[in-house]
Amino acid sequence: MGSELAQKLTSSDSVWKSIQNVLKEYINIRSFNTWFAPIELVNLDDKTIELKVPNRFFCEWIDNHYAKILNSSIVQVLGEPRKIKYHIKNSTVPESPYVATDLQPSANRNDNLHRMDVTVPKVHSPFYTRINERYTFENFIVGDGNNFAYAAARAVANSPGRTNYNPLIIYGGTGLGKTHLIQAIGNYALMQYPPTKVFYTSSETFTSHFINAIQQNRISEFSAYYRSCDILLLDDIHFFSNKGKTQEEFFHTFNDLHQNGKQIVLTSDRPINELEALEERLISRFKWGLIVDIQPPDFETRLAILRKKCDESDLDIPGDVLEYLAANLVENVRELEGALTKIMAQVTFTAAEPTLDLARKIVNEIGRPDKRMLTIEDIVEYTASVFQVSSDHLRAKTRKKDIVRARQVAMYLAKRLTDHSLITIGLHFGGRDHSTVIHGINTIEKQIQQNRELRQQIESMVKHLEYQK
Ligand code: ADP
Ligand code: MG
Repeated sequence: MGSELAQKLTSSDSVWKSIQNVLKEYINIRSFNTWFAPIELVNLDDKTIELKVPNRFFCEWIDNHYAKILNSSIVQVLGEPRKIKYHIKNSTVPESPYVATDLQPSANRNDNLHRMDVTVPKVHSPFYTRINERYTFENFIVGDGNNFAYAAARAVANSPGRTNYNPLIIYGGTGLGKTHLIQAIGNYALMQYPPTKVFYTSSETFTSHFINAIQQNRISEFSAYYRSCDILLLDDIHFFSNKGKTQEEFFHTFNDLHQNGKQIVLTSDRPINELEALEERLISRFKWGLIVDIQPPDFETRLAILRKKCDESDLDIPGDVLEYLAANLVENVRELEGALTKIMAQVTFTAAEPTLDLARKIVNEIGRPDKRMLTIEDIVEYTASVFQVSSDHLRAKTRKKDIVRARQVAMYLAKRLTDHSLITIGLHFGGRDHSTVIHGINTIEKQIQQNRELRQQIESMVKHLEYQK
């Protein structure tokens, strides 16, 4: 071996060792041993770092769970980011769709390696929903309103399926941290023991998966998928109200998982007893476990949350501005975050100073009554009255011309005036899928261009909905 090559190898060896050492600081030793200890560095230049992993599953797992941590460890050691390429040990021809565009075996190696790029899109079950690694216990601020829910969530995350808290149900108003906590359970369990199968899904997505599965004759795939998890995190079960069939399916999934000692965690924006149209048998199942609530944060907690968010985003905002925000935005945490995001945008894009005046302006905007959340149901009812059709028809399958028109207008308004996804909008119109919603919205957008009368009518409806509500 020429000495230059030998030197290069040793130095890249030590580079990988250093990266591994940084990684060890971020993740627990078990996860490190599982995922990073077996990796070897194959090649390093100033653009890419090439890693040899035992199998395909590694690339996917690391990309899904440790991408950020790995990238930042690389930056810490090398000073700059690198594009990561994976080689799979002893692989024969990789199966699609993981075949990378560049299939050249690496030049100076004779073992049968193939390159794989982490950016290749993944295949997952059609029912898969990604968990957000941003939501962790570490960045969840604990205060009076949420400490019980937090403690219960931690207990469950520590020993999923092995506490009396099964199911664990967290309820509380919107924007108080339910989604954050439920996903933190998942992230924590994955860190502790990466092979854990954690499924996170909102009840809305569960419902639309279920409807699609029925339509596409894939019910058995659907139920097998949801029954294969170790931890099921189901967000916003209030969405199940009035969805009889979905509730029934969930009831059976619930029973199976529970019997097999799998952990179930649910969230709801209302106490379980107050969930209208939730089947009695589901409610009685829920009472098997532990029900905890989250209350709005007090002033100190609000301030602590703001400080934490500023730290995370490297935002330097004076204390009195933060106090002003904490004192005036009392409803929920999402609002607090929204205010910070607005301030950040102003500071970044208009070079404004983060002053009290700016904070006042932003609090006013957020607090303005016409910003009150408009619901899709408000829009459906109002549109039905304007077009003099029954709101039930808008939610039904009828294709009568005047009803189709009114329905499309309502979809258009729902898209324009609420933050709901196309999937959600479709569900409010008799479970139509999002492509139908897109079609409806496009039709109205086109007609507005051509038809002045319709345009005026819609603008006056928008005004009505925005200001009268
Ligand atoms: P919910 O699901 O109850 O409507 P979320 O979990 O989506 O609320 O919370 C809204 C936002 O506020 C999220 O970005 C979340 O990270 C943040 N948040 C809520 N509670 C806390 C907390 N106690 N500490 C830090 N961030 C929080
Ligand atoms: Mg939520």
